[in-house]
Amino acid sequence: MKSWPAPFVPAVPGHGEPLRLFDTRTRSVRPIDAGPVARLYVCGITPYDATHLGHAATYVTFDIVGRVLRDAGHQVEYVQNVTDIDDPLLERAARDSRDWRDLATSQIDLFRDDMTALAVLPPDELVGVVESMAEITEAVRALVEAGTAYRLPVPREEGAGEDVYLDLAQTPSFGEVSGWSRDRMTAVFADNGGDPERVGKRDPLDPLLWRGTREGEPSWDDDLLGAGRPGWHIECTAISLHHLGQPFDIKGGGRDLVFPHHEMSAVQAAALTGDDVFARRYVHQAMVGYEGEKMSKSKGNLVLVSRLLADGVEPMAIRLLLLAQHYRQDWDYTPDLLEAAEARLRCWREALSVNHGEPAVATLAAVRAALSDDLDTRRALAAVDGWAERTLTAQWDDASAPGLVARMVDAVLGVRL
Ligand code: ZN
Repeated sequence: MKSWPAPFVPAVPGHGEPLRLFDTRTRSVRPIDAGPVARLYVCGITPYDATHLGHAATYVTFDIVGRVLRDAGHQVEYVQNVTDIDDPLLERAARDSRDWRDLATSQIDLFRDDMTALAVLPPDELVGVVESMAEITEAVRALVEAGTAYRLPVPREEGAGEDVYLDLAQTPSFGEVSGWSRDRMTAVFADNGGDPERVGKRDPLDPLLWRGTREGEPSWDDDLLGAGRPGWHIECTAISLHHLGQPFDIKGGGRDLVFPHHEMSAVQAAALTGDDVFARRYVHQAMVGYEGEKMSKSKGNLVLVSRLLADGVEPMAIRLLLLAQHYRQDWDYTPDLLEAAEARLRCWREALSVNHGEPAVATLAAVRAALSDDLDTRRALAAVDGWAERTLTAQWDDASAPGLVARMVDAVLGVRL
């Protein structure tokens, strides 16, 4: 499907440092060590509700990852999926008496608008599940034919086809991405799209690959699998393998995707390819809360990007609000944080509008060093704050400094002033 317009990225002299990020699988900060082309896959939205600040934090974080990789001299190949068919979308459409396709289309459009406003660089490929049905069914068929997946008849009162599950007992790498104990996995599985109670499964945690058609649900025909639709995790396995190949450099998403989504995507890929290394690094954005709870659609405590924009908040203030938090630390949104971001935006604009500023080479180096060090955006912002304050409080004669800082802030932080 179409992505959104790419903002212009100005050139900045020199190169940034090699990027290091916290890798969930090894639980340590690791160099990304990509080749000339860094390949990035980030799990996208399920389009049943608008972009809230938790989503925006994720996509801005991986936007900075892409910008820092580019600044360090890599090309970036970036793929993001859109889960445009899944249970939550169908449930919301039914609740609101809407066609699920219309709901998805409207929410994807809103997401594109929000990303454009926030100056997020678009993925090279924004890939929907519906348009990837051939790749997904091919992956499920291959698992069935290899004997690593098994079929279960759909309960008679629900339909006449078959569901297909992966047999985790045949995937020895299961658990390597999250590092979680089985108890911990079991505790969250049902709340994260899993169906541990399904009668007949060999292991309660076995992930659903193909859901046989049910009365009133959309389905796609397949000669081997019968009519149905894909499970959640196999979409990202199939889309990653098709568009990026394996291994790719970074798999990203919100921290709530570590298990089961990223774990299952990886074991499914291992079962398909015989190679355990699906992504070389797994990088996760912390959770954003509001009024003491994780921001989530199910709780309804959402701060929507579109709502803030409609209230007259500048998109770049929202971006600075997000960058003022470290991507690995949970935080709670408060209006005070937004006011602080607006004040910072005013200060930067004032400093960048003067004719002469403090020479900017050291500031450029400080920002690059901070971002390459596990994306320390707070330290990067503080370096720009320091330059702005010194520029505004002393006499300088460097006429090129304000322009250089403006281009750097735009190129690596995505803040357009
Ligand atoms: Zn995914």
